[in-house]
Amino acid sequence: MFSNELITQFDRLKTPFYYYDTDFLNKNLNILIHEANRFGYRLHYAVKANANSRILQIISDYGFGADCVSGNEVQKALENGFKPEKIVFAGVGKTDEELQLAIDKKIFCVNCESLQELEIINSLAEICNKKVRVALRINPDIDAQTHAYITTGLQYNKFGLSLQDVDYIIKNKEKYSNLLMDGVHLHIGSQITNLKVFRDLCGVVNNVLHYLSQNNINIQHINLGGGLGIDYSEPENQIPDFQAYFNVFYQHLTVKPWQEIHFEPGRAVIGQAGALITRVLYVKENGSRKTIIVDAGFTDLLRPALYQAKHKIKNISSESGEMLYDIAGPLCETADYFGKGLLLPETKRGDLLVIYSAGAYGEVMASQYNLRQPAGKYFSDDLLKSKKHKISTLKI
Ligand SMILES: *Cc1c(COP(=O)(O)O)cnc(C)c1O
Repeated sequence: MFSNELITQFDRLKTPFYYYDTDFLNKNLNILIHEANRFGYRLHYAVKANANSRILQIISDYGFGADCVSGNEVQKALENGFKPEKIVFAGVGKTDEELQLAIDKKIFCVNCESLQELEIINSLAEICNKKVRVALRINPDIDAQTHAYITTGLQYNKFGLSLQDVDYIIKNKEKYSNLLMDGVHLHIGSQITNLKVFRDLCGVVNNVLHYLSQNNINIQHINLGGGLGIDYSEPENQIPDFQAYFNVFYQHLTVKPWQEIHFEPGRAVIGQAGALITRVLYVKENGSRKTIIVDAGFTDLLRPALYQAKHKIKNISSESGEMLYDIAGPLCETADYFGKGLLLPETKRGDLLVIYSAGAYGEVMASQYNLRQPAGKYFSDDLLKSKKHKISTLKI
């Protein structure tokens, strides 16, 4: 990912900045699409993972749909080439205004998370005399075996409808006359690396589908959410195992030939295509430990502070020696660390560090705390192309 040519380019740029490898992203998208096409699966990119316009345009060019969790995400997806008939909208707290936008823009489907929300959508649809397609987001009570903050499918999470809610909907179907209720949606969490979790999900989905069909609710589309994890310890050029992932569903899901299957990958699409590049400001000796202070903080990449997430970190300016370091940002918060007890070559002021796997849930989670300036954003095709341009202009 980081040739000498690229490191020379990096040296001239103001740090910290996000670097996106568009070649890798294209390769990843091609493989993902190829694997999904084998089974006729439909894909909606989870915009919340990375909503950078340029990234959205690359992804929408491949014909992906979008999975949005706010009205602004719906708007931004539309502005960046996603077709309304391929947009789905989830979230526990959609405002009336956001729901109205979804109705006006004629998006594919609203993934509905509570009985009250169903009623609100129904009444908004009634006012404008429309039928609105909804999917019931069902909480399957499955442990995603991931960090507690990114588990969404357990009974006491705030997400989705319980099975009791589903019973209520079945008994009161006529209340929802402006809804086309022909989908189910299940998303159980993120950064799931144990595929057995998805096998368990299939079991629950099979039961739910059977139950709904017995109760005369005809399901046309089944949306299985996102959640496929990436390898944060070995990030370079790593394509997630999309084949194994889709195979689990192909083998364990019992569906009718007319039922469409949808997925909403986010992290697995963009996670490994981005890195945060930061410069070393100071190296402090705290007793036996050395602490590297870098110019990026959790305002630029929140995952380590929020989820105790571990990202691989590499010094791309130095190769000699090896030492244990803690790596901290400049913010006035004790949680502002990117790693502790990491083995790095001998590091000095001015060195560049790469924090890998920062493409997903990186740039989108940035804040201005301490009145920080947003990190820059650079794309491989610009940086490497601009160098080629320079060579051709030299000829004149
Ligand atoms: C966050 C989210 C996703 C994407 O999850 P990843 O782990 O990034 O694949 C998909 N669907 C819904 C409803 C989500 O909230």
